[in-house]
Amino acid sequence: MAVEFRPSSNIALLRESATIAVSQRAKALRAEGRRIIDMGAGEPDFDTPAFIREDAKRSIDAGHTHYTATEGILPLREAIAAQAREYGPAGADVSALDVVVSNGSKQSLFNACFVLFGPGDEVLVPTPAWTSYYEMVQLARATPVVVMGDPRNGLKVSAEMLAAAATPRTRGIMLNSPCNPTGSVYSREELRAILDLARARDWWVIADEIYRRISYEGSAASALEVADSRDNLVVVDGVAKAYAMTGWRVGWSITPRAVSKAMCAFQSHATFHTASMAQYGALSALTRRAEADAAIAAMVEQYRARRAAALRVFAQAPELPLVRPDGAFYFYFDVSAAVPDHDEPGTAFAARLLEHAGVAIVPGAAFRTPGWVRVSYAAPEEQVVEGVTRAVELWTELRR
Ligand code: GLU
Repeated sequence: MAVEFRPSSNIALLRESATIAVSQRAKALRAEGRRIIDMGAGEPDFDTPAFIREDAKRSIDAGHTHYTATEGILPLREAIAAQAREYGPAGADVSALDVVVSNGSKQSLFNACFVLFGPGDEVLVPTPAWTSYYEMVQLARATPVVVMGDPRNGLKVSAEMLAAAATPRTRGIMLNSPCNPTGSVYSREELRAILDLARARDWWVIADEIYRRISYEGSAASALEVADSRDNLVVVDGVAKAYAMTGWRVGWSITPRAVSKAMCAFQSHATFHTASMAQYGALSALTRRAEADAAIAAMVEQYRARRAAALRVFAQAPELPLVRPDGAFYFYFDVSAAVPDHDEPGTAFAARLLEHAGVAIVPGAAFRTPGWVRVSYAAPEEQVVEGVTRAVELWTELRR
């Protein structure tokens, strides 16, 4: 007789990643022969730049196919530290000892939640936020506290809103700018006010900066640029989005040394390290600066053109509540008026759009805002225009 599977209490609240589920579903439908416009996945559609691929191939031939240090190869950590020192005052003393390279930035975020938070702790999550923040905090047995963003300010939160949601149990904040799913970017002043509050209250700030290089109205600030000190900062970044290297799984954290040591010990029992050849690919991305900067600039220009083309389509429905994105590659809009009397209007809307128009998008329930939906424009421009057109048409039709 088969042993009955009774999920352990570790995963009592666990839900599968909705962002990943949508892109898997889109791929499965394509495999069945359906024409699907995939605007679900937050994944650059560009190839990884050729010089990075070539350097990674060379690293395999040079024999870099064995274990590395848990925290990653030294030259990569040195390159990450050198980049952080350029960000601004709080980054000035970052060294390779403060850096832990992980399997994508996702693992760094997970490491951080696990070593910093535990039972009884509350962690403020400016909402909407990337689906995995809530799950990671819960897996650490802490409680994610939803702090709803202001629709009049790109669904961002302010220091005052965070202060109002805090309790004596608050231990940290999950900060993400540019933000997934809204594309909103926190100004330097907004960031500074939040970082000042966190410092005054002894909270940890986990600053997820994975979209920092993808911004359209000037540069998006790093927490290291505006903070007075990095004593309570965990800055997380990686190569996935800016360098179109999602599948390489290389991310990292920059933290005070004691935290790095704990994260490293934790990771040593989980995945050990990310693939050695992928680390060499990331090393190439970070050290061949001129080529990398040119590649990023070219990709950002294409995102900018797609964003502009999509905004022209959205302009045909001026009443549709839409966050105007200044960074990342997402549009976030409220469909609740089109699907009233539904617990999760965004879920119903996304299901209908996929069924009738073959356009895959992510329901806002994944980001704890069930009335909304997320559209990724990391797809060819004609598909972005067609997908957004179908979404706006459906919204208009349902509102009639
Ligand atoms: N972060 C991306 C997204 O939001 C990739 C998938 C994931 O890991 O969530 O779509």
